[in-house]
Amino acid sequence: MARLNDKVALITGAARGIGAAIAEAFVREGARVWVTDLDAAGSQALAERLGPQARAARLDVREEAQWQAVLADVLARDGGLQVLVNNAGISGLEGGAVHNPEQAELLEWRAVHATNLDGVFLGCKHGIRAMRASGGVGSIINISSRSGLVGIPAAAAYASSKAAVRNHSKTVALYCAEQGLKIRCNSIHPGAILTPMWEPMLGEGAQREANLAAFTADTPLRRFGRPEEVAAVALMLASDEAAYMTGSELHIDGGLLAGTAVRPQSGPQEK
Ligand code: NAD
Repeated sequence: MARLNDKVALITGAARGIGAAIAEAFVREGARVWVTDLDAAGSQALAERLGPQARAARLDVREEAQWQAVLADVLARDGGLQVLVNNAGISGLEGGAVHNPEQAELLEWRAVHATNLDGVFLGCKHGIRAMRASGGVGSIINISSRSGLVGIPAAAAYASSKAAVRNHSKTVALYCAEQGLKIRCNSIHPGAILTPMWEPMLGEGAQREANLAAFTADTPLRRFGRPEEVAAVALMLASDEAAYMTGSELHIDGGLLAGTAVRPQSGPQEK
């Protein structure tokens, strides 16, 4: 039996990258999936490719009125909401901006938090209400980052916003449990997943190969992760297999967070 049969799911930032892979995995497992994004054409194209189980909507996660309108539509057309994936996120580095703690501009700091943190806050707020209105059972999955667990000197706003997402996920989990709702909330912490977010930093040809190796040099598994690998974790959290998981955080980072960069090297292997 498909793992998400009879579930209605909404995914933000789903026109491409990790969100698109999650949408594809959820459709494969039987869910009705709302593909939402700022990029309306991209959401529409993906929904058409995924077939009749998918619907598309434009949703800018920073705008409370848009959350209310889209979720009202979900409840009206599909009768409920059981899964919400707060995936939309930006690094803030897209235009080559400097984001270290000494030079980051306040406006840019706020812009990153508006998408990454306000967007998750609004999603949880209105997602809880929609799930409560449709039976009080559901799974909220917040896409944080490994950057939410360690400091990132060149991406201060991104790291701060993702750390806040980690903590807010635990608050939401406890709140829902306190309310007697069967709404779980967990965070996923990916590290170095090859998506369009990385493309501006990679270049082409030999330079691209060199950059791919350089960006993953500290990753124990020595490669980028794939969006489908993150989707597999989201699928587990969305399904009833994870019924006893709430307030937890799952790392998917090729082992990056398992240790520190400063460590003694292992000696030669015994033959
Ligand atoms: P991506 O840039 O490929 O896709 C992000 C999507 O979010 C885009 O389609 C974009 O249009 C959409 N978006 C941006 N702002 C939005 C807004 N205000 N409202 C709605 N949609 C908006 O990025 P990705 O790599 O797929 O990242 C997805 C999530 O995973 C993000 O939260 C990101 O921070 C997180 N993440 C990614 C990595 C990685 O290495 N790729 C690592 C850790 C965490």
